Amino acid sequence: MKRLDGWGVLAVAAVACGGCAAGDPRTASLAMMASAADELRVHFIDVGQGDCTLIECPGGGVILVDCGSLGGGDRDRVKAYIRERLDANAPRIDTLILTHPDADHYNLLDDVLDGVTVGKVLMTGTSDEYSSGDFSAWLDEHESIVKRLRPTDFDTTDGEPKYCGCGDAQVRILAADVAAAASPTNARSIVALVQYEDFDVLLTGDATFDTENVILGRYDQAWLECEVLKIGHHGSETTSTSEAWAAAISPEAAIVSAGYSNRFAHPRKKVIQRLTPFTAAENAHPMRWGWSEGTTAKFENLPDFTEAIYSTATNGDIVVSSDGTEYAIAFDQRARTQPR
Ligand SMILES: [Zn+2]
Repeated sequence: MKRLDGWGVLAVAAVACGGCAAGDPRTASLAMMASAADELRVHFIDVGQGDCTLIECPGGGVILVDCGSLGGGDRDRVKAYIRERLDANAPRIDTLILTHPDADHYNLLDDVLDGVTVGKVLMTGTSDEYSSGDFSAWLDEHESIVKRLRPTDFDTTDGEPKYCGCGDAQVRILAADVAAAASPTNARSIVALVQYEDFDVLLTGDATFDTENVILGRYDQAWLECEVLKIGHHGSETTSTSEAWAAAISPEAAIVSAGYSNRFAHPRKKVIQRLTPFTAAENAHPMRWGWSEGTTAKFENLPDFTEAIYSTATNGDIVVSSDGTEYAIAFDQRARTQPR
């Protein structure tokens, strides 16, 4: 595994530790973390308006969760970023998770997977629903390694997860293929909890209120608390991140993947405000949130935002690292106040 060569000073680290007062963040540097082979690393790659998350598992193994963009991302840069973190001689992704069949979650995969061996695919939907570009053809060619998750496919709170390995960490599927009348494709999103000893990151795809409610009804609320939440559906206010969901997850830190000036005004100010009762205070960094006036997307730049909430739109690539006890969140120091 590669270290974060070329990355600047650690931007922020909220450290979950025994003896720390609740909500009392500390700063740390990546040098304080365990050696790379023992680390969990979750890369929220800046793809513009879309989602692409690469997981480097402690003890070995790589998972890619979605990779697509509606615009504002650099296809070649994203491919290079991922390839740099795979074995140079035999590039391999052990598990590819396709949360749901929307192009902003898969339309970069044609390029990214070129020359890469994939061990297994977990997905919702059928291959012909992944019709943007040639990706449905790729899925048909790889039918033998595809596992389609249904509403009844999810993991329990303990024991070995059934669907996805991640070295010394665990990935638990909390929901998949939820049927809903509202925003039905998004509601099908695979929701995956990455657990490494005392550290939890929750990946939500474009999960909606209906998906959230299935999970809230399925698991004990105390068990659902996570250190880091990937905010659902790029920070959509009308479909995702209910107040009950925010309270149950109670994240110390949250990440959103969105384009700088996307037409949806993601992430919405109200979604960020639903999370700030729970997130930790942190060093000042830029945030850009939006709202809608009629059909017009409006944005406000907050250059000195001090909640532990980060957006790929303003913070670029964001990397969450953990040794299972402590964790750190690093991002590109060239934080933006304008689109690239
Ligand atoms: Zn999306």
